Amino acid sequence: MLSKLNTEQREAAMYLDGPLLVLAGAGSGKTRVITHKIAYLVEECGYAARNIAAITFTNKAANEMRERVSLLLPGKSAKGLVVSTFHSLGMTILRAEAKLLGYKPQFSIFDSSDTFKIISELTNSGDKQEIRDIQTQISNWKSAFVAPEQAVVVADSADAEAYARIYMRYQETLRAYQAVDFDDLIHLPVLLFKDHPEALLRWQHKLRYLLIDEYQDTNDCQYQLTRLLAGTRAAFTAVGDDDQAIYAWRGASIENLHNLRTDYSQLRVIKLEQNYRSSQRILKVANALINHNTKVFEKKLWSDHGIGDPIRVYAARDDEHEAESVVMKLVTHKFENQAKFSDYAILYRSNYLSRAFEEQLRAQRVPYTVSGGTSFFDKPEIKDITAYLRLIANPDDDPAFIRAITTPKRGIGNATLEKLGSHAGLRHISLFEAAFDVQIEQLLPPRQYEDLMVFCRFINRLEDRAESDPCGELLDELLRAINYETWLYDSSDARQAESKWKNVEDFIGWLKRKSEADEKSLIAMVQTIALINMLEGKDKEQEAVSLSTLHAAKGLEFPHVFIIGAEEDILPFRDSDAKGIEEERRLMYVGVTRAERTLQISYCKRRRRGKDWALCEPSRFLEEMPQSELVFAGGHAEAVQVVTKDEGMDKLARLKAMLAKPVAES
Ligand code: ATP
Ligand code: MG
Repeated sequence: MLSKLNTEQREAAMYLDGPLLVLAGAGSGKTRVITHKIAYLVEECGYAARNIAAITFTNKAANEMRERVSLLLPGKSAKGLVVSTFHSLGMTILRAEAKLLGYKPQFSIFDSSDTFKIISELTNSGDKQEIRDIQTQISNWKSAFVAPEQAVVVADSADAEAYARIYMRYQETLRAYQAVDFDDLIHLPVLLFKDHPEALLRWQHKLRYLLIDEYQDTNDCQYQLTRLLAGTRAAFTAVGDDDQAIYAWRGASIENLHNLRTDYSQLRVIKLEQNYRSSQRILKVANALINHNTKVFEKKLWSDHGIGDPIRVYAARDDEHEAESVVMKLVTHKFENQAKFSDYAILYRSNYLSRAFEEQLRAQRVPYTVSGGTSFFDKPEIKDITAYLRLIANPDDDPAFIRAITTPKRGIGNATLEKLGSHAGLRHISLFEAAFDVQIEQLLPPRQYEDLMVFCRFINRLEDRAESDPCGELLDELLRAINYETWLYDSSDARQAESKWKNVEDFIGWLKRKSEADEKSLIAMVQTIALINMLEGKDKEQEAVSLSTLHAAKGLEFPHVFIIGAEEDILPFRDSDAKGIEEERRLMYVGVTRAERTLQISYCKRRRRGKDWALCEPSRFLEEMPQSELVFAGGHAEAVQVVTKDEGMDKLARLKAMLAKPVAES
């Protein structure tokens, strides 16, 4: 089983004498060590899969890892293996131990738009920046394990105290709604384990071996959770690459790599040096680039793949031209090389850069998926349906209650909601509970009261069946009962309604498949949805070009990669200080090292800013790459290649003809 590993990788897979850190560059097989080590633990060392937990950075990576392990482990021996992100592991722990913390297991998980609303209500402020500042401050407090009461005590200014008081009321509100935010998913298990040693023992006994991927991007809270779970046995393998640390802005700290050494004196460190992913040229460029950073750990990386194609640097006239030429290049390349669309990735620093590319891809009928952007799950129609699901799981979820009861409209207006809200506020109960309070019947006009009851009873009926009945049946019934499709057509124009309804159908289809495959009830599914956050989008495997932020592309690989928008102020991001520049450089390094065979990096000479044009400068990172390995195209370095509009149109017409013809996939 381990024969497909090199000597160092095999050593890492077989090492079980204590904590292990595999510290190595991109594409050297760190993730591969994890999957093979899991198989080894099960097949050779007698571990039951359910006693092993692998922690990945995104749900997408978790799915991929699960698949890879099941290829290595025949039959059902991979059943029960825990492969999850820190957040979903935290969620599983919280769900099991909710009672100890005074929560019910069906607690809701609030995303940042939910918490944004709560804070704006608490502060009565319309100042978005201020609300975001408060969100960040609360998040920082939680990561540093500062409770609201402590925050109030240590506040050293009136402003700090005001924030701390908001933090206190924010926590009370979450509790009242039986809800947790993303930080709580990791923060609460740590608190739980510190206060309840018996619960910790249970989990240490259940998760006997831990494997952590992308270790360089863990934050303090995650590190503490790992330490607690690993206990004195310290049975874990962490793998990471300090050159790919790109989440400092979210509180991740490379310090955690050092902390491992100080906290575990017996830590064994294994380095891997052979890269199995990229051509020699790509690797040479990546190494040269990252050498401009101050070195933390000495690492070597080589590849015995061929030298490979030169890296193309393309200077586009403007943003529209960049999208047009990249898509054209991609499509031509695909047809010339009989490749698949899924062999290609277009990577960028910031979400907004994807828009022009999405337009071009749609125009050329090229299938694509977007990850790292506004998630599918953030679309209003999906949030509408999700509100119902959240409410069925947890009727105390007030934000979900308000969204569901008002969408589609069902005769319950603001006046009713206000009366309900003030009564709930007075009695410190949720809106749903308030609806059943005897006084509400007297407070509301009979018609409105009846409408409210019809809604609440409907939710109650579904709630009763949520744990036991098949998820698919409940979903179909829900959609029929709320008449969502008709409402969509009544409230938006036909084309919009059609596309929204299609999204809903996609979503429901996905939920059904997923709940069946994972044998999960509707309630477990609802909590899962909450975790499929910004970073990943819908995990639908398909023959499609991947559009992704550089952040979300971590750990992935593609035969052909286009990095776009390689300009000063974009990559590196504007106003980066010296530390920031190093992080931006690591981000570029992550991008470059995603490529297996070809890489094109493009930039624009000017970009539209509102009605005006802004001139752009190529990224300094391009200059830091060995120029001998680059070929310049477009208008870079005076090698102006004039493409007239007509030539462009000709080429476009030829491509369209090519696309219209069915082509046998290789
Ligand atoms: P990253 O830092 O980008 O996460 P990584 O170190 O996790 O990279 P992997 O994704 O595990 O690297 O491996 C990179 C590629 O090299 C994968 O396609 C993997 O299957 C392949 N690979 C790794 N080790 C070997 C090996 N010993 N023999 C053949 N292929 C290998
Ligand atoms: Mg990896």
